[in-house]
Amino acid sequence: MEHVRDLTLLPKAHLHLHFTGSMRPTTLIELADKYGVHLPEALSSGTPPRLRATDERGWFRFQRLYDIARSCLREPEDIRRLVREAAQEDVRDGAGWLEIQVDPTSYAPHLGGLIPALEIILDAVDGASRETGLGMRVLVAANRMKHPLEARTLARLAVRFADRGVVGFGLSNDERRGMARDFDRAFAIAREGGLLAAPHGGELTGPSSVRDCLDDLRAARVGHGVRAAEDPRLLRRLAEKGVTCEVCPASNVALGVYEKPEDVPLRTLFEAGVPMALGADDPLLFGSRLAAQYEIARRHHGFTDAELAELARQSVRGSAAPEDVRAKLLAGIDDWLAS
Ligand SMILES: [Zn+2]
Repeated sequence: MEHVRDLTLLPKAHLHLHFTGSMRPTTLIELADKYGVHLPEALSSGTPPRLRATDERGWFRFQRLYDIARSCLREPEDIRRLVREAAQEDVRDGAGWLEIQVDPTSYAPHLGGLIPALEIILDAVDGASRETGLGMRVLVAANRMKHPLEARTLARLAVRFADRGVVGFGLSNDERRGMARDFDRAFAIAREGGLLAAPHGGELTGPSSVRDCLDDLRAARVGHGVRAAEDPRLLRRLAEKGVTCEVCPASNVALGVYEKPEDVPLRTLFEAGVPMALGADDPLLFGSRLAAQYEIARRHHGFTDAELAELARQSVRGSAAPEDVRAKLLAGIDDWLAS
């Protein structure tokens, strides 16, 4: 009889986690209390809300909940707490590397401006990393609902802080708004500054949005990318170029991109040879963290332990982790499989 290997012990890299979205629900309740912020039922009940982001109203509701949660992060100590707890949760789930994604613009008003906000975030990441032993870096993400000039400013800022822990540049929010191409200059600045391009695509809209990420933004990784499964030629292209898709199964189901966990095309991407890095996206709103994503692959898609180990390897290879960290994690994955 085969024993069941513990997925929280499988070393992995976590490449798709948003800043506020990483918060523990209990922490949000405490912070809301601290600042007298009234939390809607969906955020105070402890059970994740049911969202339908495939229509614009559902997406708006998701964003509104996210904004309320974000409004509870006001002081540097809140930022430090959030990052420390995100690191602790990921360590518990077997992560050996975490790239957390943040749009510092959102936190700037309370933290003295854009530059101080990013400095506070990077200091918090540095501190949490030393405290927990988890390797951590930051992706600065622009918001596609805002003007592309803002994205350029952010890209320049991200490049300026490349030696302080920023490794990549992202683009998030509603794919149905604006064109990826509007942000090509911002991404060029980021890439020329040595940052990894990792925009969201192929979540709310189909394969064309993934193609736009490749053609217009020269993405090295794609946030989500799951809708590429609808286009075999695009799958081949992703596989050939080794573009890692940061696939977030629980998020996809919570937001109604797919009806059920078994509908998320994990098998299709895996069989096509598209590298994946499973991620939790926004555990605060979707109710599950990193190891749970691997659990979905095991339980709903029949991934064997050898295949789960390969998924973990793909997450490590797709990361911006330095060579020594990668080697250590890859060796740990082999040990897990041999155990
Ligand atoms: Zn995301």
